[in-house]
Amino acid sequence: MNFDPQTALQHAETLLLDMDGTLLDLAFDNYMWGELVPRRYAAANGMSFEEGRDYMLELYSGVQGELKWYCLDHWCGQLGIDVVQMHYDVSYRIGYLPGALEFLRQVRERDVRVLLVTNAHPDTLALKDAVTGLGDYFDGLYSSHTFGYAKEHQDFWRALQDEMGFDRESTLFIDDSQPVLRSADAYGIGMLVTVTRPDSTAPRAS
Ligand SMILES: [Mg+2]
Repeated sequence: MNFDPQTALQHAETLLLDMDGTLLDLAFDNYMWGELVPRRYAAANGMSFEEGRDYMLELYSGVQGELKWYCLDHWCGQLGIDVVQMHYDVSYRIGYLPGALEFLRQVRERDVRVLLVTNAHPDTLALKDAVTGLGDYFDGLYSSHTFGYAKEHQDFWRALQDEMGFDRESTLFIDDSQPVLRSADAYGIGMLVTVTRPDSTAPRAS
């Protein structure tokens, strides 16, 4: 069930926020994985961009929803190109979604515990925090990699519960991924909000 974020906030004791596509513009990640990585891989292997992109799509689909998908070490090893360095090279492209920073500032003034819960690799999280300073607005930053399970899995929520001890009913969770929101719903998170425009350069999801 979806809630209006402002109304839900009034009832929330804990606010869980996703990072990419919820606070930060997914345009960066779409550019990285949909353009830059395929282009670099194609150039390194004598392929056309289209061949590189098709090969990437095949690899991506094999590990979707798994931690590997989000793991830079995995891709460095799999592709033989320095994906970590590529993130630093274009880090100027990392930025907030429209309204996200204002939302974080507003939330900080409330009596609510605010936790970042992301599937992003800890290296990516550190880089994005360094560029945007988003960590200043949170009581804790959690990468699912440290728990060993992606947010799509119930084990992630159990591990987070063990670590943070939140009341499910009074927890508000905002994310842009439907599989992740379904997983949170199955775990019994009381209030869920979907982000409908994770990439400011792409059309709104219907
Ligand atoms: Mg996301």
